[in-house]
Amino acid sequence: MRVMAQVGMVLNLDKCIGCATCSVTCKQTWTNRDGVEYVWFNNVETKPGIGYPKRWEDQSAWRGGWRVDANGRLRLASGGKLKRLSRIFANPDLPTLDDYYDPATYDFDTLLTAPAGDRMPVARPISAITGQPMRLTWGPNWDDDLGGSGRYAADDPDMAAVRDQVRMSFEQTFMFHLPRLCEHCLNPACVASCPSGAMYKRASDGIVLVDQNKCRGWRMCVSACPYKKVYINRLSGKAEKCTFCFPRIEQGVPTVCAETCVGRLRYIGLLLYDADAVGEAAASPGDLVEAQRSVFLDPNDPAVVAQARRDGIGEDWIAAAQASPVWALAMRHKVALPLHPEYRTLPMIWYIPPLSPVLDATSAMGGDSADADDVFHAVANLRIPLEYLAALFADGDADLVAGVLMKLSAMRSHMRCLTTGRVASDDWATRVGSTAEELESLYRLLAVAKMSERYVIPPAHREDAAELAGWTTGCPLDQVAVGRP
Ligand code: SF4
Ligand code: SF4
Repeated sequence: MRVMAQVGMVLNLDKCIGCATCSVTCKQTWTNRDGVEYVWFNNVETKPGIGYPKRWEDQSAWRGGWRVDANGRLRLASGGKLKRLSRIFANPDLPTLDDYYDPATYDFDTLLTAPAGDRMPVARPISAITGQPMRLTWGPNWDDDLGGSGRYAADDPDMAAVRDQVRMSFEQTFMFHLPRLCEHCLNPACVASCPSGAMYKRASDGIVLVDQNKCRGWRMCVSACPYKKVYINRLSGKAEKCTFCFPRIEQGVPTVCAETCVGRLRYIGLLLYDADAVGEAAASPGDLVEAQRSVFLDPNDPAVVAQARRDGIGEDWIAAAQASPVWALAMRHKVALPLHPEYRTLPMIWYIPPLSPVLDATSAMGGDSADADDVFHAVANLRIPLEYLAALFADGDADLVAGVLMKLSAMRSHMRCLTTGRVASDDWATRVGSTAEELESLYRLLAVAKMSERYVIPPAHREDAAELAGWTTGCPLDQVAVGRP
């Protein structure tokens, strides 16, 4: 066992209102520069929808992530070293600017300089790249509001799991928001595919970064990342990606997207994991969510704590792992799931799947909202099909998603019993294999947790400064030679 620490995030999708504040504040902080106009390190998609870039989940087209070969060995889906080298000057598996979008701005000068007249001047859209007038026909969340409609949902790769169950009319469809950022994977395909050794995963906290001095712009990382979360700066020709706001994390401060999240739905914390178990989990032939969970170590286990100390993890980091909301939601309560575990990168941004109004569904079915049987029965018939959520978060395992939604329903019903003065029935807890105390602790974390409970981030250690800087000094993005082709 080799204990390492990884910073991770959980997002509670029930609370996301799709305001995109996270995207805008991230863009203002990191990609408000020439060359990366089209880049959103954090974007918020509407599901069902095709996303940004278009149909990023269609790995039959992009060949991202990993696959297991006939001998059970893990291989990059983009091919072995030789195949990738043969495509080094002409990689066909890359999204084009059209797949992302032609970034628009507006001709604001017209508003400022138009002479007085009878007609109101209009600021027309112009391309932020060419400065030429353009028609707005696509954008990073074009699906918003039309999500679930036949226009976009039908092309969503995840809809293959549920097509027969979903009617494509506004009255009968469903939608929810999916904020996305780099997953800072435990088994990152971007790092494995980079011919220059420019992509790297920091040993101290697992954040995946790009060394701008080493990047030669081969773009293999863009193809290999199944989440399409590496972007090319069109001026420098080099790769850029979400940095998990590492200068803030090193100070113990949450990422910009998390701190500014209007819905307070993001949680940041540490997980301790066994580095020797990562390869086997990624190549697992069976339940991929359980395989991913099996890598993480109980930070309260004395044997794990002793080994963590031997492996050089400081006492404050061990204490932070014990108080980690990510550990609590993903491992203790098991309500957070990884996005597309079948890509086998072991993603470290976890999602609590959305629970559509379960009591409405119970009443609609003529059930009693105080009866656990009726409520759990309704979970299987919610407006958002279990199979759709399973295609996103559980490699198709609808029972796993149903278990999470039942636990969330049980938590709500248990708390309703408490707050309405009725005696809390332990039935809700026992029916989902939990206890009243556990459900109340889950409720506290999801409903009323303070900032100090949602973000448990130990500051970096001064003695790790050289490793934290990687092969660069300061912020890697500072070194982008903006304006140099
Ligand atoms: S999500 Fe991030 S860490 Fe994972 S493969 Fe893509 S760029 Fe790399
Ligand atoms: S700021 Fe929060 S609520 Fe708004 S879109 Fe982003 S994740 Fe959702």
